[in-house]
Amino acid sequence: MRICDLFGGGPVFSFEFFPPRTDDGERKLIDTVYRLKELAPSFVSVTKTGAKPAEKTVELTARLKHEVGVEAMAHMTCATAGRDEMARIFGLIRDAGIENVLPLRGDPPQGQTAFVRPSDGFRHASELVAFIRERGFPFCLAGAAYPEKHPEAASAEIDLQHLKRKVDAGATVLITQMFYSNPDYFAFVRRARQLGIAVPIVPGIMPITNVAQIERIAALSGAKIPRALQTDLDRSRDDEAAAREVGIRYAVEQCRELLAGGAPGIHFYTLNQSPATSAILRELRRDQP
Ligand code: FAD
Repeated sequence: MRICDLFGGGPVFSFEFFPPRTDDGERKLIDTVYRLKELAPSFVSVTKTGAKPAEKTVELTARLKHEVGVEAMAHMTCATAGRDEMARIFGLIRDAGIENVLPLRGDPPQGQTAFVRPSDGFRHASELVAFIRERGFPFCLAGAAYPEKHPEAASAEIDLQHLKRKVDAGATVLITQMFYSNPDYFAFVRRARQLGIAVPIVPGIMPITNVAQIERIAALSGAKIPRALQTDLDRSRDDEAAAREVGIRYAVEQCRELLAGGAPGIHFYTLNQSPATSAILRELRRDQP
């Protein structure tokens, strides 16, 4: 099923995973996805991480779809390869029966600050989206969006214009970078609509389970942590169970407000863990008629 056809009814809940390093890690992840499947996610997605071959993402996405039985989307980055190799990879994705792809630029490799386009490859996600469309691959395409601005963009306005290009090229769903400040999301959606971006913009939420870890990730992604949340986290800095409780409580209220304000769903960055995401989604499901 194409995920772009899922929007317009109730909230679309999705979970993001990354391909584990080892076979044992993959077995554990499959168990995690079986557990999360009980919460009836609309789809799951699998990242394309740095040096790992694209085949890892394709195989895991296909496994989740065909073996575990949840609709699935494969991420793929411009950083992966040049045009011919990308065409081969998208052929693999299509032949594996995967109908949904999230084309991304990818981050610069560790230790480098600038993204380097592979020779004969793509510089921006919108170019990859256009390439997939030109070559006639039949995927539903998603795109990444940044309510707090992409860290490299000169301004929020310019970033939004680039986002519009991605949508005009063929992305029919947007999923945001993680954020903790809902006013930023709502303001971003308003500005996107004014610019003529009409596709669903799904908020990305990363449940907090560990204070140091979330501060590191937030610093990397540029996500600000609201003062009240930071105060609660500071109080539970050395107590993981308490931090997890703070994280779950905050995420439930954050998601409730987002959904009540018109967000079309929630995309959970799970970090391959189920307990926090399960607890949050269970609460949200209780709110639904
Ligand atoms: P782009 O849309 O290309 O934007 C990148 C920057 O270039 C922005 O500053 C933008 O304003 C600018 N830009 C865009 N188009 C133009 C243009 N035509 N001219 C000039 N400037 C332009 N990374 C991974 O490596 N693997 C993953 O699986 C992965 N999954 C992700 C999932 C989600 C939902 C999100 C939000 C991010 C994910 N990322 C992933 C991170 C992503 O690769 C980085 O944030 C990356 O820095 C930008 O990717 P993008 O697709 O948004 O790039």
